[in-house]
Amino acid sequence: MKSIPGLWDLSGQLTNGMKENRKNGKTERLSISAMKIKGIQKTTLIDYPGKIACTLFLFGCNFRCGFCHNPELVIKEEVQDIDEKEILNFLEKRKGKLEGVCITGGEPFLTLDKNFIKKIKEKGYFVKIDTNGSFPEKLKDFIDEKLIDYVAMDLKNEKEKYFETIGKETNLKKIEESIKLIIDSELDYEFRTTVVYSLHSEKELEQLGKWIVELLEKKPKKYCLQGFVNNGKFNDEKFKKEKDFSKEKLEKLKKIAEKYFEKVEIRG
Ligand code: SF4
Repeated sequence: MKSIPGLWDLSGQLTNGMKENRKNGKTERLSISAMKIKGIQKTTLIDYPGKIACTLFLFGCNFRCGFCHNPELVIKEEVQDIDEKEILNFLEKRKGKLEGVCITGGEPFLTLDKNFIKKIKEKGYFVKIDTNGSFPEKLKDFIDEKLIDYVAMDLKNEKEKYFETIGKETNLKKIEESIKLIIDSELDYEFRTTVVYSLHSEKELEQLGKWIVELLEKKPKKYCLQGFVNNGKFNDEKFKKEKDFSKEKLEKLKKIAEKYFEKVEIRG
C-alpha cells in the first residue's frame, strides 16, 4: 500500500463522510458497500511493474493496520468521491499513452465493482489489484472472468503476529486461500510486506517465509520488502514515534527472504 499525497486532482472536498448522488431527481446516499474512488494518480512508472499506468484509490478497508499510511481511505472519509464516468473518460483520452490501471486502497475487494473493471478492460488496459488477501472468493471471481492481469498481495507478518499487525482478528484460512489462488493462476504477481521495527525482525521474516513455503510446498517467484516511512499520519497514533526502517536492516531481511522466495526486491 502506498501513500497518496496530492492526488485529489479530479475531486473536491467532502465533510459529511457520505456520498450523495442525484438520480432521477432524488438524492441517493451511498454507504461503504458502494465502490468509492477517492483519488487518482494520473501517471506512475512504479505501481505497475513494467508498465506505464495510473493508480486509483478506493475507500474502505476491513483491516486496521496501525501503521497504515492512508487513514483517510480506511476510517474517515476526507474527500469527495470521483465519478466513475470521469475516470472512464480520462482512460479513454489516455489510450495509447497509459498501459495499465492499478487499483489500490484501502482494500479494493471490499467494494470493487466488476462492471467498472470490465469497462476498463474493454478499453484495452491491463489491470493490477493490490489486496490484503482477505477476499479469496472475489479474487477467484475476478480471475475466472479474466479481469485481472497482476495481483500484489500483502503478507502482513508471520501467522503468530498477524492479528497484532493488522489491528484485529481475521480468518487466516482466507489469507492462505488467496495465496494459493494467486500461485495457481496464470497471473503476474508479487507478495509484499511493509516492515516496521516494532512488528518485524529477522525472526518474523523467517517464520513468515517458512509458513508460505510449507503452505505452497514451493517458493513463490516474487516478494517485495517495503521499509516503513514515518509520514506522521497513521490509523494508530502510537506509530508516530516509530522510526523509518533503515536500508541496512532491509538488506538483512532481504537475505532471509531469499531463502523462501525466488526473487526478492527492496522497494523504496
Ligand atoms: S490493509 Fe492495512 S495498510 Fe492496507 S489499507 Fe487496510 S489498514 Fe491500510
